[in-house]
Amino acid sequence: MNTQVGTVTLVGAGPGDPGLLTQAGAEAIARAEVVVYDHLVQLRLLDLAPAHADRVFAGKQRGRCPVPQDEINAMLVRFAREGKAVVRLKGGDPYVFGRGAEEAEHLIAHGVPFRVIPGVTAGVGATSYAGIPVTHRDDTSAVAFVTGHNEPGDPGDRIDWPALARFPGTIVFYMGLRHHAAICATLIRLGVDSSTPAAIVCNGATAAQRTVAGTLATLAGVVSAAGPGIASPALLVVGRVVARREPLAWFERLPLFGRTIVVTRPIGESDPSAADLEALGAEVVIAPTVRILPIDDPGPMDDAIDRLPAFDWLVFTSGNGVRHFLDRLEARGRDLRALGHLKLAAIGPATAEALARYRLRADLVPESFRSEGLAEALAPLVSGKRVLLARADRGRMVLQEQLSPIAHVEQIPVYRNADADALTPDVLDRLERGPVDWITLTSSAITARLHALLSDSARKRIETGAIRLASISPVTSEAARRLGWSIDAEATEHTWPGLLRALVSAETSRKSPNSD
Ligand code: SAH
Repeated sequence: MNTQVGTVTLVGAGPGDPGLLTQAGAEAIARAEVVVYDHLVQLRLLDLAPAHADRVFAGKQRGRCPVPQDEINAMLVRFAREGKAVVRLKGGDPYVFGRGAEEAEHLIAHGVPFRVIPGVTAGVGATSYAGIPVTHRDDTSAVAFVTGHNEPGDPGDRIDWPALARFPGTIVFYMGLRHHAAICATLIRLGVDSSTPAAIVCNGATAAQRTVAGTLATLAGVVSAAGPGIASPALLVVGRVVARREPLAWFERLPLFGRTIVVTRPIGESDPSAADLEALGAEVVIAPTVRILPIDDPGPMDDAIDRLPAFDWLVFTSGNGVRHFLDRLEARGRDLRALGHLKLAAIGPATAEALARYRLRADLVPESFRSEGLAEALAPLVSGKRVLLARADRGRMVLQEQLSPIAHVEQIPVYRNADADALTPDVLDRLERGPVDWITLTSSAITARLHALLSDSARKRIETGAIRLASISPVTSEAARRLGWSIDAEATEHTWPGLLRALVSAETSRKSPNSD
């Protein structure tokens, strides 16, 4: 056993949107050997942990008993005593109704060093996403966070209701859905104006976010009329600031708000893609179908690097190709001067952008971002020249075939595409049962791999149109059609931003003006 006691870091994950995690929180997770997480935590945050880290669920699941607090406390001490770097990841902020302090006190009692990384609490984060500012100079200078766990008057209820009724400001009730009617009635009985605005915000900062608003007198009726979309986790917010919501409800007006979109791009490319979708209001599920790996045998790449003076053109067909080739160049003790005499071609803007990160400007980026377009654009320029194609170990052969008759073409694999063996159970479950609106398809290989990894029931949801498909290009769409799938949105410009535009326009034309 390791004699060095590990550290436990209590990390607040923020509510809903995984982007609300703090930078310090992300860094702690990236170094964790064990992550003990709650039911309110977005599973995507677990992807930030190293692949070998243990991920331990310690929350309550519908229909099952929660893991008792004693057990969680004991588990944290046990992992720390094994010398592990432990992250205890909790929804929102660890110290706001999260029993974080109890866990910290337990760690102190057992001599385990700990740190706390605060998080955005739901009372601030979910309310913002719902368009409710918890304070406003014209309305209130005070805000109270209160638990709504117990019904007013219950034996377990420790709230001083008469004092709360006199509170001059916004009141945010956590765990506020179950007893919202009793809470509103109690406040009215104790003298709060029954026309005070009040709202329920549920699943804040997620695709399932719903907000219903009324007054203390009307809210209960509004909630029951709204039906099953109103569910926990939810906040009850009481105060004049609630009335400011309509114009401030920025999140609910984003073009992809309420949509859950599956991203199938390789790990490493999926995070920026997810961020793009999230900025448009979507909730993202990441389902990597292929992985990008270094090439098994770098011999041919090294050889080509040593013979760079013999080439006239260097052609890249992906950003991954750029990164793997240029990193290898550096690893071989060379630098960008080795490319000084070469003309550079990039298949599309993303590849050109990858070159730009190395301060290199592509001499050629064709109008159409496919191999055919690149071959056509290159043809008049490379006649009799020596062309080096840096590409994946597998992929389309179009370039080599079209250019070989006119130029000396040498093709070298600079990275490897490996199929993912399986989708994670969480992702598969989401695709079979959960709310999923779209899957994005960004290449034929990814499309084929996704088809192979899906279960029958997930495939059925695609075939029946319950889950729609968005494709990056006609080549990818054709691959999907060959598998019996139909495409609901296709990018006009065959790039990731083009795909985003296609998704937004499909959604905008579909959404009725008053849909939520
Ligand atoms: N530590 C957490 C709160 C845990 S108590 C925090 O700081 O946010 C659980 C309660 O938090 C839920 O019952 C609900 O009232 C609130 N909550 C958590 N996530 C929420 C979300 N995404 N939207 C609305 N309320 C949320």
